[in-house]
Amino acid sequence: MKLPPYFAYRDGALCIEEVAASAIAERFGTPTYVYSKAALLRAFDAYQATCAARGPSGGAVVCYAVKANSNLAVLQLFARAGAGFDIVSGGELARVLAAGGRADSILFSGVGKSPDEMRQALDVGIGCFNVESLSEARQLSAVANAAGKLAPVSLRVNPDVDARTHPYIATGLKESKFGIPYADAVSAYRAVAALPGLAVIGVDCHIGSQLLEVAPLMEALDKLIELIDALAAAGIFVGHLDLGGGIGIRYGDEATIETAEYLGRVFERVDRWRSERHDGKPIRLLFEPGRSLVGNAGALLMRTLVLKPGPVRNFAVVDAAMNDLLRPTLYDAWHEVVPVRSDAGVPALQWDLVGPICESGDWLAHDRSLALAEGDLLACLSAGAYGMAMSSNYNSRPRAAEVMVDGQSLHLVRDRETVAQLFAHEHRLP
Ligand SMILES: *Cc1c(COP(=O)(O)O)cnc(C)c1O
Repeated sequence: MKLPPYFAYRDGALCIEEVAASAIAERFGTPTYVYSKAALLRAFDAYQATCAARGPSGGAVVCYAVKANSNLAVLQLFARAGAGFDIVSGGELARVLAAGGRADSILFSGVGKSPDEMRQALDVGIGCFNVESLSEARQLSAVANAAGKLAPVSLRVNPDVDARTHPYIATGLKESKFGIPYADAVSAYRAVAALPGLAVIGVDCHIGSQLLEVAPLMEALDKLIELIDALAAAGIFVGHLDLGGGIGIRYGDEATIETAEYLGRVFERVDRWRSERHDGKPIRLLFEPGRSLVGNAGALLMRTLVLKPGPVRNFAVVDAAMNDLLRPTLYDAWHEVVPVRSDAGVPALQWDLVGPICESGDWLAHDRSLALAEGDLLACLSAGAYGMAMSSNYNSRPRAAEVMVDGQSLHLVRDRETVAQLFAHEHRLP
């Protein structure tokens, strides 16, 4: 078993940076999400170091996709490290600003934005709207005109490439709800360029998530390059090319994409293209990584409540459930689950780890060989992305606490929800 960076066993005790996972569970209870600050910064730096070095040839900007993990402390950390942000709602916009992110570094993605959200984003002066349809462009034009503002826009095109990932997280195929069909892109740009209140500044795509190969991304890049050339021929000039996010992480033993290698290939391709062009004008590159910045930096700590060995399967009921970590239920996702103490005195058995929720789909892991006793602590690894962000209160379960480890220090970055908070906004009938 290979643990993610900054997760290690010391004297049989699982540690995150310099802190024992058991000490976190003692102090904050379970289930609790734990993030390593060093791991977050290391993942960010893998992008930032390569992008910062690009300098004069147009620059490259890393815009963290907030939906992967929107905790304020995580956003603040990335903002301080120089990140821009990719958001998909007015709620995420407010979070980024509350965390100290710069409005002009924000990209507003998403297939449906309300007029209120458009107005809110225009008022604070966001960097770009990633527009996904002509109807949306018309609505944004109306909102911008009414506000007396100019909305910077990029069109999200659907390059029709197969990202070869789970169907729920593949977004770049023709049948997907996302983006403007590639074949319609030039005429869509023409129409948008003619709308008042909009300034066309870029081109973007996002073909899917948990991608394990560079090839589909390079295919998408080639299509965007072709599109930008076609736009230039039509007299429409854009200043940036946004390749979206999607780089996969290692959950188990999969081989995934090395950030620096991917960026290197993109830069090489773009530089070759720009040098072939007569104008040779620089173009800014944008990336929208989510999972690859936060996924391996987080774990979900949980405690074994009940062991139910059975004739067909052995169930270990833990105190975390699908409301805390939905990915197994939603995507059939595989997460490594490890003991917080590696030296259990009981023999290992094959266990299905399930939560207390009244759904057969409430499971976290199947068929894991673990030496388990009731009361034992476990850590579900690589849970930093789409973990807490997708959590809910189903079965009236308060949401988990979130803790960030920094060397030997612990920061509680979100309190555990209380039961009273769960129905504080509800009203009894008169
Ligand atoms: C979700 C999303 C991302 C981030 O995807 P990851 O796979 O987490 O990197 C980036 N851009 C857009 C538009 C998204 O919807």
